[in-house]
Amino acid sequence: MKRKIKFTIVILVIAIISAGALIGQYNIKSEAQPTVKKKEQESFVTIVDSNPLTVSTKKVQVYVDPALYSTTAETANDYVALKESPNAKSATLVNLYRGEWGVYLASQNDWIKINSNDGKIGWLKKENTQIMTSTRKVKPTLTQFKVVLDAGHGGIDTGAESDDGTLTEKELTLQTVKKIGAALEKIGVSVAYTRTQDNYLALEDITKKSMAESADLFISIHYDKYDYDNGMNGQTTYYYYQDDKFAATSINTALQKNLALNNNGIRLGNYFVLRQSNRPSLLLELGYLNSDSDLALIKQADFQDKVATGIVAGIQTYVNELNLNQ
Ligand SMILES: [Zn+2]
Repeated sequence: MKRKIKFTIVILVIAIISAGALIGQYNIKSEAQPTVKKKEQESFVTIVDSNPLTVSTKKVQVYVDPALYSTTAETANDYVALKESPNAKSATLVNLYRGEWGVYLASQNDWIKINSNDGKIGWLKKENTQIMTSTRKVKPTLTQFKVVLDAGHGGIDTGAESDDGTLTEKELTLQTVKKIGAALEKIGVSVAYTRTQDNYLALEDITKKSMAESADLFISIHYDKYDYDNGMNGQTTYYYYQDDKFAATSINTALQKNLALNNNGIRLGNYFVLRQSNRPSLLLELGYLNSDSDLALIKQADFQDKVATGIVAGIQTYVNELNLNQ
């Protein structure tokens, strides 16, 4: 009898977790379609009466043995075929970039079924996968929200230099993340940094930090440089995962309002720090160091404060939207 009750509880818990995962997934994936029926949503909220609510998703990373690809040039080994069925001879739906994450759906023999970033459902060979559970908060408040800030470059990696030789990207990014962090802490957001000093970090250490901290949002800060002076200008917001497009828009819109820089909008960027992490991630390029007009703005004493104000406003919008749409 006792066993039966235990078994029933286990089944109930599994049902509740699955319902939560489905509702979360559904709402994030397709804003345009009508959401889950109101009745189901209400019963879900009533049953799980804890705060913050969390939803765990089993995620699958496309694994390619580092010995098989080049770190300097793109090769065929950068990609892994997503197959239509669990069979090497079946059609290739899409080639997934190494390190990219998808959502785990099922497994069969030596194959794993995933929903990929571009929405294609297919199969990967088990040897080409790494599986991890990623947990996110449902309806987080600002005080439950954690941002991991990454000051781009550092140590031996100087990054870009201003065309007048007075500024280096690694110094600017570090000053900027400190301003952003202080402004976020003022509104109750928790902040963690990938670096607080002038030291070099391997890219995998940056993504590992973001995942270990379970970042609700990871933001990597950079300053741009074009091939030739004054060839480009403005601020650009990069994202990699479709699910992060909405965070990118929130932050970019707020930055556009606060900065005098031209705004280049949101763009898909296949950057390691975005692609290799299973946390929501953005990379911000805050103007060109070899554009005279951008550099004049970047050098203004309150430029970084304006960046911080913009990011705070963008995160407030993003958290509000998460609360409305989840
Ligand atoms: Zn950079």
